[in-house]
Amino acid sequence: MSRYFCHDHPDVLALETRVLDARPGAVVLEQSPFHPGGGGQLADRGRLAWHGGETRVVGSETADGRVWHRLADAVEPSGVVRVGVDADFRAAQSELHTGAHVLNALVYRTFDGALITGAQLNDDLTARIDFDLPGVDTDRLRGLDAELNDVIRQDLPVRYAWMPLEAARAEPGLLRSRSVAPPPAADGSVRIVEIVGLDRQACGGTHLASTGQSRPLRILKIDNKGRHNRRVRIGLVGTRQ
Ligand SMILES: [Zn+2]
Repeated sequence: MSRYFCHDHPDVLALETRVLDARPGAVVLEQSPFHPGGGGQLADRGRLAWHGGETRVVGSETADGRVWHRLADAVEPSGVVRVGVDADFRAAQSELHTGAHVLNALVYRTFDGALITGAQLNDDLTARIDFDLPGVDTDRLRGLDAELNDVIRQDLPVRYAWMPLEAARAEPGLLRSRSVAPPPAADGSVRIVEIVGLDRQACGGTHLASTGQSRPLRILKIDNKGRHNRRVRIGLVGTRQ
């Protein structure tokens, strides 16, 4: 879990910066407001303008510890550029991601510490989250829908802290994924996301400032994916306030 500019400045969506490296259709920036994606969250999209041109930023990939921003055109900008994150896209990912935390907090609490085996946020206001839930009653899982929306109505604040990975490992429930722990930042720390009064877990993604900023959320579908795995599809309902 690298420490990104957007972790410290979640509200700064546009800035002027310099191109450090470029190849046709991709750049490395000195400073970037774009979240590069990861942990199921999609990479931010947006725009990049330079002296004499402009293109769309369509995604990111990380190589050798550097984030390459993928561009819509095979251009190689250089020098000073102006970049901006698509605010609606970021907001929708943050909203879905917050909902995914609420669901996984409720699953963790209701089903004796059940862990996540995978997650993917989509760009159509839906997400899927896979849980290690052998033999679970699907109706009981579906019944979490009401609690999910209760938590949204309670408008619980979302807070962040950084702590050493070893300390996070020692505290049950902070590392919620069945697979590997998130790689720590350069200083050995991991980012802890707290939904106050509900949940704390390590996560590098973007989230709402409080649960009440979310639209209502519905559990759309529950599938069995193997003997252990339950795949829960969730979707945001209606227009954001
Ligand atoms: Zn998260």
